[in-house]
Amino acid sequence: MLEPTDLTARAIEALRTTFGAEATVVGRAPGRVNLIGEHTDYNAGLVLPVALPHATYAAAAPRTDGVIRITSGQEPEPFTGHIDELGPEIEGWAAYVAGVLWTLREAGLVTDGLDMHLESSVPLGAGLSSSASVECATAVAALGVAGRTLDEDLQRAVVAAGIRAETEVAKAPTGGMDQSVAVFAEAGGALLIDFDSGAHRNVPLALGERTILVTDTRVKHQLTDGGYASRRAQCEKAAADLGLRSLREATLDQVESLGDEVVRRRARHIVTEIARVEPTVSALGSGDWAAIGDLFAASHASMRDDFEISVPELDLAVATAVGAGADGARMTGGGFGGSIVSILPLDAVDSVSAAIDKAFAEAGYGAPGHLIASPSAGAMFTELPFDKLRTSPR
Ligand code: ADP
Ligand code: MG
Repeated sequence: MLEPTDLTARAIEALRTTFGAEATVVGRAPGRVNLIGEHTDYNAGLVLPVALPHATYAAAAPRTDGVIRITSGQEPEPFTGHIDELGPEIEGWAAYVAGVLWTLREAGLVTDGLDMHLESSVPLGAGLSSSASVECATAVAALGVAGRTLDEDLQRAVVAAGIRAETEVAKAPTGGMDQSVAVFAEAGGALLIDFDSGAHRNVPLALGERTILVTDTRVKHQLTDGGYASRRAQCEKAAADLGLRSLREATLDQVESLGDEVVRRRARHIVTEIARVEPTVSALGSGDWAAIGDLFAASHASMRDDFEISVPELDLAVATAVGAGADGARMTGGGFGGSIVSILPLDAVDSVSAAIDKAFAEAGYGAPGHLIASPSAGAMFTELPFDKLRTSPR
């Protein structure tokens, strides 16, 4: 992984060489891995994501003519526009970036132009939410350039702006977990988010001799291809058939009474998955790794069999991780590809990674990628030059 200082320096340098502009702010927002609670956010349920040390860095300089110019180290084409002419029709990668500037403009929080360059260490399209990472890094950088202080109200506005850009501009439906953890995560902890009450709480992780390993199968998921939307519609149908506001209110008995077999299985995943989140918090708190193993196994089976969002590569990676000594492993993120998350002893990282590499080679799959998910902090910006530091609160 490229270090934060390297990515920051690279973003500042690219802004200088591409636009001749000196960055006055660098925004940073992390990717995430969800420990448990999958597809529960849009069912008013619970989720438990961790912010990755991998993040997007946005170096930005203000302009006074309304012009927006953005480049990214991860995408070849630049974006150029005007703050007063942005709208939901922005296409491609710029949907996530200029899209956020549009939603911030709509909220009255950004009113002028800027030059910006992005650099990211979050793998794109791996189910680790490079999208929320780039949205939130862009948002905090733009707010920093506009001279604002990132208090809790503004943090909430960043989450809302990111969700709106992703849904209305990128047209990828999102339940809000990714933007929430990208903003509110605290270093060393997971973020327990309750999408019924809207409350979130930092859960300090005392992992001791354990760590979190993420394995990217490199099977590309595509949130816009209908799998996510159909699951969401089935969940809404289940709640409506039961006369409930959301599946958060449903019991397992109610779900088992649903007439449509597919809808019944989808709803069963949501109800059992929500019920696994708080026990996972307890097991992490007490270091009960056997319980983590059981909870992760049940969660993976539920996503594979009831929710049907797994793929053979994810199943193989999970089975191999557990067989090679991980305490627990499960697919994570939206599904249909992407990554798995394992909790394992520190000294098993190399052997588990090697076992997955070998199993993939034997199955004829492409090589996977591995990364360590040391829990990091949410979005912030730093003002430049560094000798006049005004860093947003964190
Ligand atoms: P995920 O969020 O799981 O990584 P998505 O498909 O939701 O996958 O989002 C990936 C998309 O987000 C990329 O294809 C690109 O359009 C955009 N994106 C993410 N990071 C960057 C970046 N650093 N620069 C430009 N665009 C980015
Ligand atoms: Mg995404």
